[in-house]
This record gives sequence, structure tokens and C-alpha cells, in this order.
Amino acid sequence: MPYDPLTDEQREIRDLVRQLARERIAPRAAEIDETHEFPWDVVELFRDHELFGLYFEEEFGGTGTGALLSLVAIEEVSKVCATSGLILAVQELGSLGVKLAGSQEQKERYLPRLASGEWLCAYALTESGSGSDSAAMRSTARRDGDTYVLNGSKRFITNAGVAQLYTVFAKTDSDAGHAGISAFVVEADAPGFEVARVEPKMGIKGSTTGELVFEECRVPAENLLAEEGEGFKIAMQILDRSRPGVAAQGLGIAQGATDYALEYAKTRETMGKPIAQHQLVAAMLADMETKCEAARGLLYKFGQAVDEGVDGLELTKLSAMTKLYCTDVAMEVTTDAVQVLGGYGYIQEYPLERMMRDAKITQIYEGTNQIQRLVIAREMLKEQRAFLLAGVS
Ligand SMILES: Cc1cc2nc3c(=O)[nH]c(=O)nc-3n(C[C@H](O)[C@H](O)[C@H](O)COP(=O)(O)OP(=O)(O)OC[C@H]3O[C@@H](n4cnc5c(N)ncnc54)[C@H](O)[C@@H]3O)c2cc1C
Repeated sequence: MPYDPLTDEQREIRDLVRQLARERIAPRAAEIDETHEFPWDVVELFRDHELFGLYFEEEFGGTGTGALLSLVAIEEVSKVCATSGLILAVQELGSLGVKLAGSQEQKERYLPRLASGEWLCAYALTESGSGSDSAAMRSTARRDGDTYVLNGSKRFITNAGVAQLYTVFAKTDSDAGHAGISAFVVEADAPGFEVARVEPKMGIKGSTTGELVFEECRVPAENLLAEEGEGFKIAMQILDRSRPGVAAQGLGIAQGATDYALEYAKTRETMGKPIAQHQLVAAMLADMETKCEAARGLLYKFGQAVDEGVDGLELTKLSAMTKLYCTDVAMEVTTDAVQVLGGYGYIQEYPLERMMRDAKITQIYEGTNQIQRLVIAREMLKEQRAFLLAGVS
């Protein structure tokens, strides 16, 4: 039995998500991958069953059911379709700016529309010249009366063109490094805002990844989140909470691949017996299952920590470890799952080659896994563990 710390009420919602994923989304997954079309029918399904509400407090039209369940929902959907799991994860990523740093007025204006799924949202930090080094961004925002004027561009933005609300980071002071970055919410119809192109890519093919261009783009001054100069801090606080959404996506892909490989290995026969009974294949299956369960332990620990109010640097380290481990597991496990199927793993008639392609992005976005390792090590270096060495010469 996989680790399951959910309450009865949470389990009921998890089971509903699982059923929708298996019955309604799984049959669409190959087609979404093939056509590269954003799956609006899946958005409609999430809207009809109020699944976007899992990411919001009751006060703003959500279910208020907490972080753990919101991650479990992404995991369940990603077991069958990583593009669809990402739609849920980005509703969290794109709305966290308003949740964490928005005024009451901004929250009331935007969160109910995002909780119902009427609007989708996006998070726009990366630029063509600045990904890991986000402080090197070049986009600018200058105050002009009761508006801000944005100029520049953002690259690789998930939900580009399908989101109605973008959390955008730009420099209000180009000479001040991190401290010169501010955060804004930009509505899709803001004058001077345009989605310039959508990138073809290796996996998560139904998700849009696009370039946003701001040319003298005017937004009301009240669209600033918090104060000028607080954008970098907000961007990092968002990532601390959103990265485990990518981890949940990675774990879902890994568990989906494990389940598929297991069933295949029970029926495919070579040398007179099912391949699952060949010890080298059985060992691969055992490693895959163990890695998934270890990843689940970290992911659910993160969800429980948020629900218990853990914050700050403790959350930063746990978030980075969760993202790192679950997504490395996604890549390792899907690669092995393809191997279990042999030639059938490599062809498109079977879902594992898609899962392996989908897994790769989880090691890259919302901070590459190299960056996660830097974050974890940075936090470790601040810790005092010398007492453990007492008596060791
Ligand atoms: C499909 C997709 C969707 C995305 N969605 C979004 C989105 O919604 N919003 C958004 O803002 N961004 C998004 N991104 C951008 C993503 O977060 C960045 O691509 C990622 O953070 C890496 O930045 P980069 O591509 O500029 O790589 P670089 O920063 O140029 O890194 C290149 C390589 O160098 C390594 N590296 C860099 N610096 C260091 C260092 N100091 N130490 C060790 N290694 C280092 C990296 O790990 C990587 O392996 C998306 C990207 C993709 C491909």
C-alpha cells in the first residue's frame, strides 16, 4: 500500500480525481501528445468538478482543503497525463503571487476567478538571457502617473496564450540587482502585451510554452504586488511553494510508468516465463517502486509541513529536496520502464516513450535540479552539526 496520510474526507476527493483521471483523461493523453493542442476539454472537466478550487482558500471560492491534497491531485492526474497535471500545478504557480503578496482588493478581484477556473494564470520570470540567474533579467517597469509601463520579454512561459492573468517580474530599478525587481499582475488584454510565439518541444506537448512581449505595456499602478523592489523575494517565496507541484507531476509520471511496466511484465513472456519472473527485470521493478515510495514520503511530508504552517528557510530546503528527488526519480523510473518494455517501450503505440519525454522537463523547470542542489547545500552549510562529531578525532 502506498503511503497514505490523508483523512477520510481528503481520500474521497483523491478518489474522485483518480477516477476522473483514469476514465476521462487517460483516454485523451496520447491524442493530446500527438496533436500538441491545449486540452480545453480537460480544463472544462476540472471546472465542472471544482478541482481548481483545491488550490484556494474557502474565503476566495476554493475548497480550503490544504496543500497535501492539492499535491495528491497533481500526482493522480500526472499518472495518466503530465500535460493535464501541469494545468493544475500552474494554477497554483500563477496565483501564488496574489495569494502571498496581494492586497485584500487584489485577492478579491482575482482569486475567485482562478478558484473556479474561469481564468487560467501564468508565472513569468524567465527571459531569453536569464533562467537560473533570474536577477539578470532585463524587462523594465517605470511608473508613469497612476500606471506602470512594462517593456521587455519573457521566454518559456507555461500557459502563454491560454492564461488570462500573468504574474510578471520586471526591474523598477535597473541598477539595484535583486532589490530592483518588482512583481505585477498583468491581464491578458493589457494594451502592449502580446504572446509572440509558442515553442514546439520534447514533451508536455499539450501545454503551451511561449514568449511574452511587453511594448510600452500599461497596467494600473494598483497591479503592483506588495512594494517596489520586493519582486525577487516574492518570486522565490512562490517557487518554494510551487516547486513541489512539479515534484508531484514527476512522481505521478513515475508511478504511472511503474504501474504500466508492472502489468506489461506480468504478461510478456520470454524463455518460457513472464519477464517479471526474470530476476533482472524484477529488480528493475523493485527499484522503480521503492524510488516512487521514497519520493512520495518527501512530497507528502512537504504538503503536511505547509498545512502545519511551516515556512521560511525550513520550507525552502524541504521544497528543494522534494523537487530534486521526485523529478530525478521521474527520469530514472521512466527510463527503466521503457527498458522493461524493450522495443515496445520505444514506440508510440505504448505510453512509456511519452512518459519518458514528459519526465525530462520536471528536472528543468521551476529551477533546474542543479539549482535545487545548490539551494539544499546552501541551507546545510548554515546548520550546526558539530555536536555529532564529539569524540571523533
Ligand atoms: C517547457 C518549459 C516551461 C517553462 N515554464 C516556465 C514558466 O512558466 N515560467 C517561467 O518563468 N519559466 C519557465 N520555464 C523556464 C525554466 O524555468 C528555465 O528554463 C530554467 O530555470 C533554466 O533556465 P535556462 O533555460 O535559462 O538555463 P540556464 O540557466 O542557462 O542553465 C543551463 C544549464 O546550466 C546549469 N546552471 C546554470 N547556473 C548554474 C549554477 N550556478 N551552478 C550549476 N549549474 C548551473 C543549469 O542547471 C542548466 O543545466 C520553462 C521552461 C521550459 C522548457
